[in-house]
Amino acid sequence: MIELQGDRLREIIWSPGEKMKVLIGKFHRSYTPMVVDKESGKMQFLIHLHGNGQGANWARNLKIGVEVRLTDPKPSLKLPPKESEVIFFGDETTFGAACAVQSFCRNSKQLFEVASIEEGKKVLLHRALSEAQLVIKEDGDAHLEKIGKQILTMVANCRNPQVILMGKKESVSQVQKLLLTQDFPSENCRTKSHWTSKQERKVQE
Ligand SMILES: Cc1cc2nc3c(=O)[nH]c(=O)nc-3n(C[C@H](O)[C@H](O)[C@H](O)COP(=O)(O)OP(=O)(O)OC[C@H]3O[C@@H](n4cnc5c(N)ncnc54)[C@H](O)[C@@H]3O)c2cc1C
Repeated sequence: MIELQGDRLREIIWSPGEKMKVLIGKFHRSYTPMVVDKESGKMQFLIHLHGNGQGANWARNLKIGVEVRLTDPKPSLKLPPKESEVIFFGDETTFGAACAVQSFCRNSKQLFEVASIEEGKKVLLHRALSEAQLVIKEDGDAHLEKIGKQILTMVANCRNPQVILMGKKESVSQVQKLLLTQDFPSENCRTKSHWTSKQERKVQE
């Protein structure tokens, strides 16, 4: 978790679900604030350290007191109405987004695909997502079918379900396809890819 503080953060207008870009040399990477508190001028990102990319290395090596350059918030995920019953599916890169969604749509349930249940639980334990269901990623993405079925069971118990699918592009589209083939209404399903295993950066930003 990274906490940033600055006077500019007292002025910006951020809504849950919006992203900000961190400028790292001549690169930039998108992250989703969990919260922006205008009064204190503080905000928090939850960043998944997944390798040696520019973003992961920046987050891993960040020291207290170092200046960070950010863009203003930009639209990313359009949230469903506040009173909706939300089923949120994502991966480790979406923990922060899920917290932001939860702060707006209080009636939300989360389901995450993760590389390690133990690590995932540790991160979620002290946040509003301690009740989230974690499913281990399987070779060939076999777990996604179980996740699709689980989401369908969960929506069957809701009056006005809204589904949010975020994270790895390939997982998002596979779960979305599963839901749509079972006649889940497309207008009640919002998606946002955070990354892809293929070289297609522009698609996601
Ligand atoms: C709108 C938006 C909001 C986002 N919010 C967050 C957030 O709040 N927290 C967060 O952690 N991430 C978030 N992401 C995802 C993050 O921007 C990407 O994971 C980004 O690629 C990280 O940059 P990097 O320099 O570390 O890796 P890159 O240089 O971009 O990628 C290096 C390699 O790692 C692979 N890779 C990228 N991400 C992952 C991953 N998660 N797991 C495994 N392999 C990966 C790539 O396919 C590539 O092969 C968000 C993305 C978008 C588009």
